[in-house]
Amino acid sequence: MSEAIQSFSRTLADLKAAGHYKNERIITSPMGAEVTVEGRTDPALIFCSNNYLGLADHPEIIEAAKHTLDTRGFGLASVRFICGTQDIHKQLEAAISRFFGTEDSILYSSCFDANVGIFESLLGENDCILSDALNHASIIDGVRLCKARRERYEHCNMQDLEQRLRASQECGIRLISTDGVFSMDGDIAPLAEICELARKYGALVHIDDSHATGFLGQTGRGTAEHCHCLGQVDVITSTLGKALGGGSGGFTTGRREIIAMLRQRSRPYLFSNTVPPPIVGAALKTFEILSASTQLRDKLAENTRFFREKMTEAGFSIRPSVHPIVSIMIGDARLANEFAEEMLQLGIYVVPFSFPVVSKGMARIRVQISAAHTREQLERAIACFLEVGRAKGIVHSAFL
Ligand SMILES: *Cc1c(COP(=O)(O)O)cnc(C)c1O
Repeated sequence: MSEAIQSFSRTLADLKAAGHYKNERIITSPMGAEVTVEGRTDPALIFCSNNYLGLADHPEIIEAAKHTLDTRGFGLASVRFICGTQDIHKQLEAAISRFFGTEDSILYSSCFDANVGIFESLLGENDCILSDALNHASIIDGVRLCKARRERYEHCNMQDLEQRLRASQECGIRLISTDGVFSMDGDIAPLAEICELARKYGALVHIDDSHATGFLGQTGRGTAEHCHCLGQVDVITSTLGKALGGGSGGFTTGRREIIAMLRQRSRPYLFSNTVPPPIVGAALKTFEILSASTQLRDKLAENTRFFREKMTEAGFSIRPSVHPIVSIMIGDARLANEFAEEMLQLGIYVVPFSFPVVSKGMARIRVQISAAHTREQLERAIACFLEVGRAKGIVHSAFL
């Protein structure tokens, strides 16, 4: 074995020894409230997918994807500006702008690409990015590619953000960048305060709303709607790979000039293939469904309220929020791993998070609620949490 390969296998062995090695479970059904998992005879209830609205196996969306496959083909074998733009790509961009009330939108293969392609396209070395310390990896990578000065403010700390805005006044363009919702705990950025600071100091605001688009806020417009500052965010990136059907694809939406700059300069847009027609057709249907009714996001909000309330009553320690991401604090990493394993044996598919993803001693089970879950399925999950929680000495209540 060459030295390089030996070094890789040592690293992999170290990961395993430290309990950081990621194994993948094999699913043999579509994504839905219930899935079949290789090695299990009974189906399992899923509580860890981003399928917030239950659209991943929605019949109308599958039908739309099939129809577009028939009418526009499988792929275009081109980037957008050579021969990769169909009528439906423009229609989807217009549908996204309508949904958000923004001026223009641009599609990417993923939200990861949207974030990688935004900073370098808009900002140069005289400019400044002010970025929340817990922002998503794709924002961090995007910022790395950009020559602008970087100011990393403490997570959701508005004093720290303001101090950095005050200290960077000599910079040209300043852009505040934050996740709308942070995926580890489902905590929501204080967007009204951020927009207020941006106005005061003449900065732009970017949010990545991947964990909010389609369901957060009264009509599912996301964090800006939830925080009552619709129209105050200059640019939003988000994904089609979570609530909006869960396939793939991402987009950036906002001010006309910002989107125009991205079409000219954004490298993942210019140098990577166009989004395939079936995905575009399915996404058009998704926006049609979400624009016609708030039924799915209302069901999700109701499910979330129910689950949070019952788990709190049961004595679990839960990070407070209104978001369908519900972090159930366990503490010890090994205990959290065992907890998730035993839950799966009972037919509830959840995943543990531990160091280095979260701080040491703060291991947790991250539950994600979906509109696809029925009340009975939620009750079953809560009963299993109680059974395992009692057996492991995490809860002592006599509830249920
Ligand atoms: C999931 C996620 C992404 C990545 O989205 P993809 O479309 O899967 O690339 C980016 N940012 C945030 C905050 C996310 O949660």
